[in-house]
Amino acid sequence: MASREDVTSREQAKEELMEEKYLLRTLMDNLPDCIYFKDRQGRFLRISRAHAEVLGLGTPDQAVGKTDLDFYPTEQAEEFHNAEQEVTTTGKPMIAKEERQTWPDGRVTWFSTTKMPLRDANGNIIGTFGVSRDITERKQTEAELMAERHLLRTLMDNLPDVIYFKDLASRFTHINRALARSFGLDDPAQAVGKSDFDFFTGEHAQQAFADEQEIIRTGQAMLGKEEKETWPDGHVTWASTTKMPLRDSNGKIIGTFGVSRGITRRKQAEEELRNAKEAAEAANRAKSDFLAMMSHEIRTPMNGIIGMTELALDTPLSPEQRGFLNSVKESADTLLTLINDILDFSKIEAGKLSLDVGEFDLQDLISNTMRALAPRGDEKGLELTWETPPDFPPRLAGDPGRLRQVLVNLVGNAIKFTERGEVDLRVEIDSQGEDRVTLHFCVTDTGIGIPQEKQQQIFDPFVQADSSTTRKYGGTGLGLAISTRLVKLMEGRIWLESERNQGSRFHFTAKFGIAKELQPQLAPAAKVILRGTPVLVVDDNATNRRILEAMLKGWSMEPTLAEGGKECLVALQRARELGKPFPLVLLDAHMPDMDGFMVAERYQQDRTLAGSAVMMLTSAGHRGDASRCRELGISAYLVKPIRRSELLEGILLVLGKPSQKGDRHELVTRHTIREARRKLRVLVAEDSVINRELAMRLLQKQGHTILTATTGVEAVERWEKDAEGFNIILMDVQMPDMDGFQATAMIREKEKISGKHIPIIAMTAYAMAGDRERCLAAGMDAYVSKPIRHQELFETIQALVMDVPNISKKVPVEELPKEVLDEALLMSRVDNDAQLLKDLVDLFLTECPRLLDEIRAGLDKKEAKTAERGAQLRGAAANLAAKSTSEAALKVERLAAAGDLAQTESGLQELEYELERLKPALLAVQVGAEKEQI
Ligand code: ADP
Repeated sequence: MASREDVTSREQAKEELMEEKYLLRTLMDNLPDCIYFKDRQGRFLRISRAHAEVLGLGTPDQAVGKTDLDFYPTEQAEEFHNAEQEVTTTGKPMIAKEERQTWPDGRVTWFSTTKMPLRDANGNIIGTFGVSRDITERKQTEAELMAERHLLRTLMDNLPDVIYFKDLASRFTHINRALARSFGLDDPAQAVGKSDFDFFTGEHAQQAFADEQEIIRTGQAMLGKEEKETWPDGHVTWASTTKMPLRDSNGKIIGTFGVSRGITRRKQAEEELRNAKEAAEAANRAKSDFLAMMSHEIRTPMNGIIGMTELALDTPLSPEQRGFLNSVKESADTLLTLINDILDFSKIEAGKLSLDVGEFDLQDLISNTMRALAPRGDEKGLELTWETPPDFPPRLAGDPGRLRQVLVNLVGNAIKFTERGEVDLRVEIDSQGEDRVTLHFCVTDTGIGIPQEKQQQIFDPFVQADSSTTRKYGGTGLGLAISTRLVKLMEGRIWLESERNQGSRFHFTAKFGIAKELQPQLAPAAKVILRGTPVLVVDDNATNRRILEAMLKGWSMEPTLAEGGKECLVALQRARELGKPFPLVLLDAHMPDMDGFMVAERYQQDRTLAGSAVMMLTSAGHRGDASRCRELGISAYLVKPIRRSELLEGILLVLGKPSQKGDRHELVTRHTIREARRKLRVLVAEDSVINRELAMRLLQKQGHTILTATTGVEAVERWEKDAEGFNIILMDVQMPDMDGFQATAMIREKEKISGKHIPIIAMTAYAMAGDRERCLAAGMDAYVSKPIRHQELFETIQALVMDVPNISKKVPVEELPKEVLDEALLMSRVDNDAQLLKDLVDLFLTECPRLLDEIRAGLDKKEAKTAERGAQLRGAAANLAAKSTSEAALKVERLAAAGDLAQTESGLQELEYELERLKPALLAVQVGAEKEQI
C-alpha cells in the first residue's frame, strides 16, 4: 500500500509533470522556431506549431508518423535524413548548421538548424530532436552584401584608375590593385597602415597630406585636381585626382577616399604641344624681329640713296646727269616698294598686319595719291582721272596709309598694264550710317585685260596672269594679295571685271568711321585768328565747295557758300548791309558767266564792297594772272589742287597781315607761303651719319637752324643747355647709349618742372605694327618713318609748330663773327661762283661728319690716320675761310699725333662745336650767293 507520503510525492510528481508538459507545450506552440522530435527512422514524433506552419500543416499532430519525404523533394529529404543518421550513429550533435531548403514549389528557404541525439532514460539513442530557425532574410541580406562586395572587389581589382581609402591620419585602410601595382606591392593589403610618405617623395606626400587634412577639416571634396607625383627614383607622373571625405553611417568623417586617373601621357602630349608652340612662337618672333631688323638695315641705306638723290636732283645738273639720277631714284623707289611688299607679305603670313587708324581727308588722300602717280601715267601718255562724290563726309577715320597702298597698287597696276587710253579712279558711297560709311572704289583701265580663267588666281600671292609677261612688266605678284588682305581688314571686299584686250575694272569696298571732331593741330595763335571767322566760298563746282567748306569748318571758321559770281556779289552786299562783312573770300577763278576776275573787278569798283581779303583759287595758272591779281587788290593767288596745309597757311598769311593802305602789297602765292614758313631751331638726334646729314640738309633747305646729337644722352644734354631754345626735336628711336624713347621720357620728365612742351618727332626705320603706339606712349608727338620723305617731314613739322606766319617781319640774320666764316674771303676764293661755292660747301658738309667719325673711331686705337683726318679737316675748313674751325681741327691734329687721348677728346668737342656754328653760316652764304645770281 502506498503510504501517504508516497501518494503525496506521486501527486507532486504528477503535478510537476503536468507543469513540465505545460511549459513544453507553451514552448512548442509559441516559439517561432521549428522544433521537432524524430525516431531513428526519421518519423516525426512531435513538432512545434511554427514547424507545422512551415510544413503547411493545420496542426502539429498531423505530422506524427510522417517523414521529410512527405514534405520535401526526395533529394532534400535524403540530405536531412543523412544528417540525422550521422547524429544517431555518432551521438554527436549538429549545431547551427545553415541548411538550404528547397520546397516542391521551388521556393528556397534557409534555416539554421541544430540537431541533437534523442536518448531514452537509459541513454540509448532512439532518434533525434532539433531546432531550426528561419534565416532566409538574413541570408538574403548577406547575399546582397556579398554581391555588392563582389562588385566593389571587381571594381577595386580591375579598374586601371587608382582607388584608396584612408583614415583620419591619412594612412591607407584600403587600396585597389592598380594602386598596389604602382606602389610595387604584390598585395593591396600590404599598404594598410602606410601613408603617401612611404611611397612618394616628401614633396608630393606633403601636398597630398595637406589636401586630405583640408578635406577632413572642411568636409569639402577636391575635384579633378591635376597632381604632379614625384617618386623616390626621380620619375614624375601626373594624375587627375578626386578626393572626398569618408563618412561613417552617422555621417561623421572618418577619413578620406579618392580616385586618381593617370594623365601622364596627356600631360606629356600637352607639354610637347606647348614646347612645340613655344618653339614656333619663338621662331615666329625671331622671324618678325629679323624682318624688322632687315627692314631697318635695308631702309637705312635706302634712306640715304633716295634722300641724297632727291637732294642731288635739286641742284643744277646736265640733262644727262638728271636722267641718270632720275633712274637712280626710280630704281630706289621701286626697290623700296618691293621691300615694303615683302615685309607686308611676311606680316600677313605672321598674322601681324594690322591697321593704324587715324583721321584723314579722303579728298586730300586721293588727290595726293593720284598726283604722285601722274608722272608714271604721263610717261606712257595715259590720262589719269579721278572723281569723288560731292556729298562727302569731310574726314574719315581709318588707315590712310593702307588705303593709299591699295590705291597705289590698283592704279599702279592699271598704268602698268595699259599702253593707250586712260586710267580712272572713282569713289562712291556704298552705304552710310550715322558714324560709319562704306565706300566703293573703282579703278578702270583700257589696258591688256585679264583672261577669265586667271581672274580669281591673281589675288593669290606670287601669281601673275601671264608669267611670260613678267619680264615685260615686272612685279612680284604680291600686290593684289596684299591689297586683298588689306581690304579685308577694312571690312570690305575686292573683285574685278575684265576682258582680254578690253581693259580691266577693279572694285573694292572698305568701311570707315566718320570723324566727328575735326582736330587739326593748330597752334593757339592760329586758332584765335580762325575761330568763328566768316568766309565766303565762291565756286561753281559743288564738289569743290564741299571740300572747301569741310576744310574751313575744320578750322572752326564759318563758311557761306556761293555758286557763282552773281551770288557772290549778292552775298557780299547782304553781309555789308547786315554790318557783318566777310573778312575773307575764297574765289574760284574759272566760273561760267562771270569768272573770278570779273567778280574781283566789280568788287574793286564798288567801294561799298571793299574790306574783304580775296583769295583767288585757280585750276590752271596763266601767265599774267599774278600781276592781274595785284592790280585787282587780290591778296592771294593759289593753284588747285590745294593742299589743306597750304590753304591754311595761305589764309593765316592773308588774315594775319596788317591791313595795307594803298601801298603795293605782297601777293600770297605758293611761293610766298613757303618763304614765310617759320624758321625753326631744330635738334636732330640721330646716330647714323647719312640719316643725320639728310635730315639736316632737308631742314636747312627750309631755312631752319639745325643742331645735332648722336646719342640720346647727348640729345637730352643739348636740349637742356640750349640757351635759345629749340622749337622741335627730331629723334631717332634707335641710338647707342640711350635710345629715343628713353631720351624723350627723360625730356618729358624734366619738362614737368618748367611746364613747357617741346614737340618731338620720332624717326623710325621699323615698320612693324605698334611702333606708332610706342612712340606716342613714350611722349613723342608725331612719327615719321624712314626713309624720310621730305613732304611728310615738312607736313608733320608744320602741323606741330604752325604759327601765324609773319610775312612782314624778316627773320633777323645774325651777324657772324669773322672767325667763324669770312664771307668776303670765301666769295673771292670761289670767284663769286655760286655753283662752285655750293659744290664746295656740299662736299665739306658731307665729308665733315665722316672725318669726325673716323677720328673718333681711330682715337681709341691710336691710329696714325687719326691725325691725318684732322689735317684733312683743317685743310677743308681753311679753304672755306672758316678760321675757328680750321684752328680747332689743327688742335685735334696735333693732339692726336701726340697721342694725348683725353686732350684730343676735348679738342674734338671743340671742333664739333665750331662745326655746328659754321654749318648755318655756310648755308646762309650759299643761299645768299644763289639769290644774287637769280
Ligand atoms: P604684280 O603687279 O607685282 O605682278 P599684283 O598682285 O599686283 O602683282 O598683280 C598680279 C597680276 O595680276 C599681275 O602680274 C597681272 O598679270 C595681273 N593684273 C593686275 N592688275 C592688272 C590690270 N589692271 N590689267 C591687267 N592685268 C592685271
